[in-house]
Amino acid sequence: MKDTNAIVLSNVRIANDVYKMELRTDIAKEAKPGQFVQITVPGFYLRRPISVSWTQDDVLTLVFKIMGEGTAVLSKLQPGAETSVLGPLGQGFPVTAEKEVVLMGGGVGTPPMLKTAKAYLDAGAKVDVVLGFNTAGDVFYVDEFEQLGITPVVCTMDGSAGVKGTVLDGVKSAGITADYVLACGPLPMLRAISSTYTKGYVSLESRMACGFGVCNGCVMTDKNGMAVRVCKNGPVFPIGKVVL
Ligand SMILES: Cc1cc2nc3c(=O)[nH]c(=O)nc-3n(C[C@H](O)[C@H](O)[C@H](O)COP(=O)(O)OP(=O)(O)OC[C@H]3O[C@@H](n4cnc5c(N)ncnc54)[C@H](O)[C@@H]3O)c2cc1C
Repeated sequence: MKDTNAIVLSNVRIANDVYKMELRTDIAKEAKPGQFVQITVPGFYLRRPISVSWTQDDVLTLVFKIMGEGTAVLSKLQPGAETSVLGPLGQGFPVTAEKEVVLMGGGVGTPPMLKTAKAYLDAGAKVDVVLGFNTAGDVFYVDEFEQLGITPVVCTMDGSAGVKGTVLDGVKSAGITADYVLACGPLPMLRAISSTYTKGYVSLESRMACGFGVCNGCVMTDKNGMAVRVCKNGPVFPIGKVVL
């Protein structure tokens, strides 16, 4: 983990309230799939946790949705702006020897699945991807997965794009049989996945301040009643380990 200066290379809107930001930072060279960074927002004391979506040499790609004041400020950063990034943080998705995996992303849980998909492809696995959104205007990253040679199954709750329904409806409709899942998305999605699959990993979100295990702001409880820190022990946990 290190704290580095980062230069904004690009920052573009890619869906409703969703921005893709490329930053030049050394952290890109170390970041693993499913890890995250804490990015400084000009004018704010606390940094904001955002998942590593993609890396190429010293370029780090983050994708974030405007959820409050901090992410609204991030969306306005122009190319050339300077900020700082702390990371890489947390335990990412392990790259196991599974032969067949299904990756699921819900909304802004989709970004970390891109680098995870690449890691599993590089490890020789057959990779299916299912992405869930509320409506057609929220959909992003189809092209990025296609560039990896994967045609993602897109699902929307209102049926305005792809399969109508949740990611689990998408799995059913596409006839995906892999029983090993890697997922990131909103809690109801992760709960549904955890009651359907027993093998794999889910990436959790919790409000956090420090991001590296000191403040205990992001504590959740595991199935044995023990406290786990989402930032340091996670955000990626084996399915069923943490009470959702
Ligand atoms: C490990 C991790 C990875 C994440 N990756 C992404 C991502 O790739 N893309 C994306 O769009 N969002 C991601 N989030 C959620 C993102 O951090 C929040 O949406 C963002 O911090 C909201 O900041 P804000 O100032 O706009 O909102 P406000 O609600 O004004 O934030 C106020 C405070 O609450 C914290 N906070 C608010 N919501 C969350 C949240 N859901 N999780 C953690 N802290 C929160 C903020 O950091 C800030 O300190 C991630 C969260 C975690 C924990």
